[in-house]
Amino acid sequence: MTVVKDSGTRAVLPPFGEEHEELRETVQRFVAKEIAPHVDEWEQAREFPRELYARCAELGFLGLKFPEQYGGQGGTHLHDAIWVEELAHSGGSGGVAAGLNAHASIAMPPIFNFGSEEQKQRWLVPGIAGEKIGALGITEPGAGSDVAGISTIAKRVGDTYVVNGAKTFITNGVRADFLVCACKTSEEGGHGGISFLVLEREMPGYEVAQKLEKMGWHSSDTGEISFSDVEVPAENLLGEENGGFKLIMANFAWERLLMAIGAIGGMQRLIETTVAYAQEREAFGRPIGKFQAIRHQVAEMALKAETSRALTYNALRLFHSGQDCIRDVSMAKLVTQRSLLEVADQALQIHGGYGYMREYGIERAVRDARLGPIGGGTDEIMKEILGKTMGL
Ligand SMILES: Cc1cc2nc3c(=O)[nH]c(=O)nc-3n(C[C@H](O)[C@H](O)[C@H](O)COP(=O)(O)OP(=O)(O)OC[C@H]3O[C@@H](n4cnc5c(N)ncnc54)[C@H](O)[C@@H]3O)c2cc1C
Repeated sequence: MTVVKDSGTRAVLPPFGEEHEELRETVQRFVAKEIAPHVDEWEQAREFPRELYARCAELGFLGLKFPEQYGGQGGTHLHDAIWVEELAHSGGSGGVAAGLNAHASIAMPPIFNFGSEEQKQRWLVPGIAGEKIGALGITEPGAGSDVAGISTIAKRVGDTYVVNGAKTFITNGVRADFLVCACKTSEEGGHGGISFLVLEREMPGYEVAQKLEKMGWHSSDTGEISFSDVEVPAENLLGEENGGFKLIMANFAWERLLMAIGAIGGMQRLIETTVAYAQEREAFGRPIGKFQAIRHQVAEMALKAETSRALTYNALRLFHSGQDCIRDVSMAKLVTQRSLLEVADQALQIHGGYGYMREYGIERAVRDARLGPIGGGTDEIMKEILGKTMGL
């Protein structure tokens, strides 16, 4: 028997096949050439250019999982997973990834999954083409984790809904042309009284109240939006009236999986950068990577990345095959977001003072990673879901 030395590189493994790996290389090339070199500038400007959506659309990246009849590529969520992982791996900017993915993978899927044909033509088609930008509005100043507790209300008056309330922490909230917005459509609200309406920025009474300053994700815009007697035509109702909770839950699975996949890409980048640094940087007459303390830290980083990958790809396989995956997705989200934060912190420690400087992008990775255990459902909420799946 010949024993092959394990180099840590693998042949293509399910759920991915050769076509996905080809896409991976295409995305890597694009991101390394057209995104990574500009990230510092975009972070300082507190936004990336709107034209980036059009460029990503031109290359087909915004429509990977949508059918060709709407301008998409006719692929699956596996193609989208490759895009998200490589955007994080080769791009190194949580903000750019958040801005692009909030549009393509969080705001557009409800329109595709629950919208009428006419609604798809109005928002999905220009969205895939990068001409109209979308955002998803669930969180409010007074309700985040407790989604059923939202108070933005849409009152039916004839064939319009009159919307009053506010949304906060909305990714793309400042630049979005349309907002897929959760509203109460009954006085009681709650699980059986929430609906989704698509609001458009030019509607009278729709106002971007402020662009929020935040710890990380600097190149994405995060907005607070207020609604004052906004008259929304009834034809902008997405799915069934009072059936919005189902839509929220359906969307969360992919959003959380995306965050897990992005974290894997992010960890991979940090490990590669750190290994290269540890080989090059010398102290006490040798590369710092030759100190056992540093080697062990890198080994721990690799362990976190690989356990995260195994859990996430397993959840992705279940999601892709249409099986119940809430438990696995929640686990993947929980583990990966904490792991990314820890790996980023270890990478910073190994980079010493240089890690604390802007130059290497490591301090940005630490700041960006801190959002993971909060956004898309906090760690505590993930544990609540897990506990409930175990009958508690
Ligand atoms: C940069 C950024 C971008 C975002 N983008 C969007 C977006 O595009 N669209 C959108 O709708 N939202 C967005 N969010 C909002 C995000 O989803 C919420 O911040 C998140 O769900 C938590 O809600 P909250 O901030 O109101 O915290 P809260 O719900 O007030 O929670 C505060 C603390 O209490 C804990 N807690 C709450 N309930 C429980 C419980 N039952 N058991 C134990 N602990 C509990 C939480 O875990 C947390 O630690 C974004 C947030 C940020 C920071």
